[in-house]
Amino acid sequence: MNRFILDSDTIAAIATAPGEGAIGIVRLSGPQAVEIARRLFRPGKEMAWSPQSHRLYYGHIVDPADGRVVDEVLVAVMLAPRTYTREDVVEINCHGGITPLRQVLQLVLAAGARLAGPGEFTKRAFLNGRIDLAQAEAVIDIIRARTGAALRLAVQQLGGGLSRRIEGMQQNLLGLLAAVEAVIDFPEDDLPALELDHLARQAEELAGEIDQLIRSAFAGRVYREGLRTVLAGRPNVGKSSLLNALLKESRAIVTDIPGTTRDIIEEYINIEGVPLRLLDTAGLRETADPVEKIGVERTKEALEQADLVLLLVEAGRALEPAEKELLAELDPQRTILVVNKVDLVEEADGQAAVFSGGRREEAAGRAPLRLVADTADQWPGRVVYISALHEQGLEELKKAIVELVHAGELAAPGEAVLVNLRHEEALKRAYQHLMEVPAAVSRGVPLELLSIDLRQAWEALGEITGTAVAGDIVERIFSDFCIGK
Ligand code: GDP
Repeated sequence: MNRFILDSDTIAAIATAPGEGAIGIVRLSGPQAVEIARRLFRPGKEMAWSPQSHRLYYGHIVDPADGRVVDEVLVAVMLAPRTYTREDVVEINCHGGITPLRQVLQLVLAAGARLAGPGEFTKRAFLNGRIDLAQAEAVIDIIRARTGAALRLAVQQLGGGLSRRIEGMQQNLLGLLAAVEAVIDFPEDDLPALELDHLARQAEELAGEIDQLIRSAFAGRVYREGLRTVLAGRPNVGKSSLLNALLKESRAIVTDIPGTTRDIIEEYINIEGVPLRLLDTAGLRETADPVEKIGVERTKEALEQADLVLLLVEAGRALEPAEKELLAELDPQRTILVVNKVDLVEEADGQAAVFSGGRREEAAGRAPLRLVADTADQWPGRVVYISALHEQGLEELKKAIVELVHAGELAAPGEAVLVNLRHEEALKRAYQHLMEVPAAVSRGVPLELLSIDLRQAWEALGEITGTAVAGDIVERIFSDFCIGK
């Protein structure tokens, strides 16, 4: 861990969000934290302040230059090593306003602290070995979690969920490496073919385990950033109505005039813990109106980047050529065909009671949803029947969305992990190196080369937890944090 230069100065920052709040915290970490606080803090009772660890002290922050009282505060003192950074930490709980916090911070800096950079407290926790890199990244995921499920995953990650898996795999790798290197060092005990086969199989098994983690990266990104979702469909099919039904509040404009949802509006909604980043669209109609044209082009771009497309079509209506074209282009794995306005078909057929919550069998048995026969039967992906207006079938739609997120994801139950892009890249490299082993064994490649691949796989895994990672990557990770964290 100590390959990095560890600053020994004392850092300080406002740790709470800017703006007005009940309290605001100025946080200090480093060997001088208590000494700096002592210069500014006038305790309520005691004359001489000799704070104990993990205690809270009432008093005032006083400007030492003129004795002016700056704020009434509670000071928390936490002495190393049982602290967030493993250094001495002092947190000054001020009144939560910009001015008291800034003034207290200025005094702290004047008394010898240095303003902390983004994520520097957490970086110290990493450099001092309290948490590894994957755990440090989980801190950001906790702060940015958009749903309860995302939070639960991030907290598990902070607890070391992913790190334990990685370390276990690294241990196994070391075992393989030791076996290979023993033979390299003592070539007279040449490895029998049987042992080599065993080695190849173990490498393959390990690669399989890594592959499983790579597969969970999609779910990890979804929980972290939201499932990029596009509501597509021609004007008036009910996109805004569906968005509103899902949001349960009217943020997008709902109107009878076709093409009025011109801009792509971004909204987050929580579908059973899966955060959906919704891009509402301007519809798919060919248009001469330049404003709408931009909207349509942006929609096409959004469709290409989408994780999920909810393609809305209208029940009981034949598909327009543009809709057919689109359907042919969309990937059934990430598209749900949403047949909206089923209430209209039922009314027209005089069977208003037939529709019961979006299930095809029930609807198709009795209500002649023409579209079902026309299109949905040929659509290999998921189909859901809804009425956005009457909020019917939404539960089925939500279920289909959640299923789509988890399809193909094989995370071990109870040990869900948040694999991010950085982890995914490292895992892929480790996978490739490991898969070289069985290939090399069958080609009769020298053992020295096998050991290089095993070593590189081990290092790629180490990048995830930070046992083997370049300093600039560490800097980049922490620069993503806010100041004070
Ligand atoms: P968009 O252009 O695709 O966003 O469509 P809107 O959401 O603006 O809906 C167009 C019209 O269809 C509005 O008058 C809605 O009230 C109506 N509408 C939407 N969903 C349904 C539905 O499920 N049933 C019925 N009967 N009307 C609907």
